[in-house]
Amino acid sequence: MAESKTVHSPIVTYASMLSLLSFCPPFVILLWYTMVHADGSISQTWLYLREHGLQGFVDMWPKPTFTACKIIFCYGAFEAALQLLLPGKRVEGPISPTGNRPVYKANGMQAYFVTLITYLGLWWFGIFNPAIVYDHLGEIYSTLIVGSFIFCIFLYIKGHVAPSSSDSGSCGNFIIDFYWGMELYPRIGKNFDIKVFTNCRFGMMSWAVLALTYCIKQYEMYGKVADSMLVNTILMVVYVTKFFWWEAGYWNTMDIAHDRAGFYICWGCLVWVPSVYTSPGMYLVNHPVHLGIQLSLYILVAGILCIYINYDCDRQRQEFRRTNGKGLVWGKPPSKIQASYTTTSGESKTSLLLTSGWWGLSRHFHYVPEILAAFFWTVPALFNHFLPYFYVIFLTILLVDRAKRDDDRCRSKYGKYWKTYCDKVPYRIVPGIY
Ligand code: NDP
Repeated sequence: MAESKTVHSPIVTYASMLSLLSFCPPFVILLWYTMVHADGSISQTWLYLREHGLQGFVDMWPKPTFTACKIIFCYGAFEAALQLLLPGKRVEGPISPTGNRPVYKANGMQAYFVTLITYLGLWWFGIFNPAIVYDHLGEIYSTLIVGSFIFCIFLYIKGHVAPSSSDSGSCGNFIIDFYWGMELYPRIGKNFDIKVFTNCRFGMMSWAVLALTYCIKQYEMYGKVADSMLVNTILMVVYVTKFFWWEAGYWNTMDIAHDRAGFYICWGCLVWVPSVYTSPGMYLVNHPVHLGIQLSLYILVAGILCIYINYDCDRQRQEFRRTNGKGLVWGKPPSKIQASYTTTSGESKTSLLLTSGWWGLSRHFHYVPEILAAFFWTVPALFNHFLPYFYVIFLTILLVDRAKRDDDRCRSKYGKYWKTYCDKVPYRIVPGIY
């Protein structure tokens, strides 16, 4: 079976692009407005819109401002400089469909610590107050919505005129090329990897930066930080720390190794991650819920356990591949399938599929703790409003769809070997249920 560029039907692409464009930007603004100005209450925003109509919606949409541009530019330039300048181990990514092997500099953890220490240092020494970021959040999202769209046009043009590797190409349809992307590994020069920047250093990094921002803003507003906010911030920061600890592993996942740099993934990481992913914390700024020490600790421990299990699933798969199936899995020699496939250039290759440990429970068991962790950092908001839970629901839909996309891709890559895996591990995500 040939591993080929994912084939996207034009109708599906038009429909998803249209829904993304017509739904996501207004949703980001409505989410921000509801969390910051409408007490997190969808019905309050709905009443406002019913009363003021379309003009009310236009008035609520903050215009991009110079301050927002300055904040985004300084943050983006700082992250780009760290990506380029900080030292890091040379890491090879997985072999691409055309047989290339991308090379990275693994300096994510260093960049993460430098970013957080610098941000907290600027606040501590009174040089920059992070509360300003919260105060200009609407304008920042509005600027990101437009700026990221322009950036995706740049990616499209670059894919046509100056692709960085042979893992690039047009399918002949402008909309599909723009939406799903042209290049798998676009770079500026030899060393600046654009997807590492958009997905990791801008998107994921902003998650931790904004989590701290919300905490600091609540401290400035109330003179203390509620235990609910602390639990939320600690869990989100632990999750992002885990991400950067394992960043080189992320370069082996679908986002980097299979999804091309287009509107779908890049716009999502530049806009959707800083807004939607951080939204439970955004809600808590104005809602200092008191949980008490015992409940806080229960939620914290449950959340950390889920983050650990999610990490361990990823680690187990990658360690298994790295040692060529020779290491132990849960203390025993792993059960595995040796799966052959052919690259688009016609080369025959082999991959190992792990069928024991976490990967023997279901084919995407790691999504279960991922979703539960998101639930645990949201639950400090309690159940007065639905909106803080939007991310958990969105994530569940995203991961169910992703599990299906990944299964489809692996079926077309590994053919009968994937069928053997499915026979051996029949459930897709939740063992015994789905
Ligand atoms: P995975 O890490 O699950 O990787 C899937 C790939 O692993 C497959 O395409 C296949 O690639 C290989 N594979 C599949 N089954 C096996 C097996 N049994 N043994 C060995 N290799 C196998 O991809 P994801 O990118 O979905 O997840 C990575 C992490 O990111 C997870 O922790 C997930 O929870 C998280 N995540 C978070 C999201 C968020 O928005 N918060 C969104 C998506 C993911 P190959 O071609 O190499 O065989």
